[in-house]
Amino acid sequence: MTTSYERPGPTKPKTFTNPEPCGWCARPAKKATDRHYSSEPYAGNLIVIRTTKSERNGVPYYTQSIWDGETYVHPYGFFCSQPCGLKYANMMWRHYLETRND
Ligand SMILES: [Zn+2]
Repeated sequence: MTTSYERPGPTKPKTFTNPEPCGWCARPAKKATDRHYSSEPYAGNLIVIRTTKSERNGVPYYTQSIWDGETYVHPYGFFCSQPCGLKYANMMWRHYLETRND
């Protein structure tokens, strides 16, 4: 199953079973949702978060966000964004430089 939060890059998304706060800004992890695109509304056992109904050549078309009810995700490991990860890295590196013994 392809999830909408997957993206290329050196840092993989990390999933949690609770809305884990970002390691820098404390923003809670988002619901890890998938997208359902079809002329029929989603009929599975996942939770429908949002439904957008449109029409294509007279045929109804559904775009829906579905969620398993328990999985949350940060797209950049323990961080909500690349800037948050970088700010944390800079803070830790500065701390290392200021406290190393040499
Ligand atoms: Zn953040």
